[in-house]
Amino acid sequence: VFGHLARAPEDPILGVTVAYNKDPSPVKLNLGVGAYRTEEGKPLVLNVVRRAEQTLVNDSSRVKEYLPIVGLADFNKLSAKLIFGADSGINIVKQQVIESSNVFSSRNHVICCRDASYCLILCSPAIQENRVTTVQCLSGTGSLRVGAEFLAKHYHQRTIYIPMPTWGNHPKVFTLAGLSVKTYRYYDPATRGLNFQGLNLSCFLHLHGLLEDLGSAPSGAIVLLHACAHNPTGVDPTLGQWAQIRQLMRSKGLLPFFDSAYQGFASGNLDEDAQSVRMFVADGGECLVAQSYAKNMGLYGERVGALSSVCKTADVASRVESQLKLVIRPMYSNPPIHGASIVATILKDRNMFHYWTIELKAMADRIISMRQQLFDALRSRGTPGDWSHIIKQIGMFTFTGLNSEQVTFMTKEYHIYMTSDGRISMAGLSSRTIPHLADAIHAAVTR
Ligand code: PMP
Repeated sequence: VFGHLARAPEDPILGVTVAYNKDPSPVKLNLGVGAYRTEEGKPLVLNVVRRAEQTLVNDSSRVKEYLPIVGLADFNKLSAKLIFGADSGINIVKQQVIESSNVFSSRNHVICCRDASYCLILCSPAIQENRVTTVQCLSGTGSLRVGAEFLAKHYHQRTIYIPMPTWGNHPKVFTLAGLSVKTYRYYDPATRGLNFQGLNLSCFLHLHGLLEDLGSAPSGAIVLLHACAHNPTGVDPTLGQWAQIRQLMRSKGLLPFFDSAYQGFASGNLDEDAQSVRMFVADGGECLVAQSYAKNMGLYGERVGALSSVCKTADVASRVESQLKLVIRPMYSNPPIHGASIVATILKDRNMFHYWTIELKAMADRIISMRQQLFDALRSRGTPGDWSHIIKQIGMFTFTGLNSEQVTFMTKEYHIYMTSDGRISMAGLSSRTIPHLADAIHAAVTR
């Protein structure tokens, strides 16, 4: 009965690994998939994850019953605190600093400031006011899908704007959920940076790029924002740019849907990587957030993530949760228990949490060091071009600027595998493999 079916193409990202696995070359290098590797090129299970699993195994009271539709209650509460801020917000108020640095307007919420030019939002007003509902979902992808299905069913606007480019699965997830996908300009190949364009009302400057596209989106449209470490470009807005995006989106009533797949992976600091989200929460407005623990806890295959909806009131939040249950129940009934238990065990234990932050920073630092080493290797070879974007870009990926022809050449001649848009996973590199990659890039651009 299925004889008529055409063969579907491989997934453009996961297909890279399929091709890599078929290559018998001993020097082959897989820079396609976004999973962390050690300096020895091996997958990493965090020590703190092993410790948490041991704790779970030793607890004989644990059973394997179904979780509720919305998942593990502790996990949900702790995940919300992780992304929105755990601080109860009773210590430092420096509102004038925030206003003068134009980070955002604070609605009298308590903000911790490091110094006059840099404010770190650590508090979670929405949690304190019970305006957040969080449901455990199947990693980042599942959280995005549940959020999108909910929006398609209950939100008055069906259009979602996604950055151009973005993670290849985004348009598929949103389209299949019933949303209509449009793009906004994000990356500028000429500068290898953000296509932002300053908003200068006093000079009546013409707007281009991201601001122009969001500015002309229909009121109420949904906007997908990468919370940090934008995939695939590694280019994030600065805090000042986030402030402008927030201002514009709130003035037009655009609904932010954050994808937070790399919290802690960009800077090595969990709070810093959540600043974009917290800015939008501190102004008292609504947003959705999809969280993933695949990268920052290395729980790729456990499929553990969360979807949060920040609402205007506690009553709305509880009604939203009741409707989310109706989305989840016919999809997969309830989420798996093991990964969420690992996460909850780590997040609720002070020592384990601290140990996690150390291991997370070590992963982020190794990636940052790979950036520097690759940049130095290209410079020492005199490779033509400005490669400074390799050290400027953030997170797991570098958008090299290599075109698909150059990528094909590197795969054929050097057995180096990456997506055809020239994105490489820095986490897949090591000091040992960088010279091989630098040789390949040099050859590709000087051919
Ligand atoms: N969003 C982005 C931007 C990603 O890069 C990824 C993983 N590559 C995800 C979401 C989802 O990952 P997962 O479902 O494994 O949590």
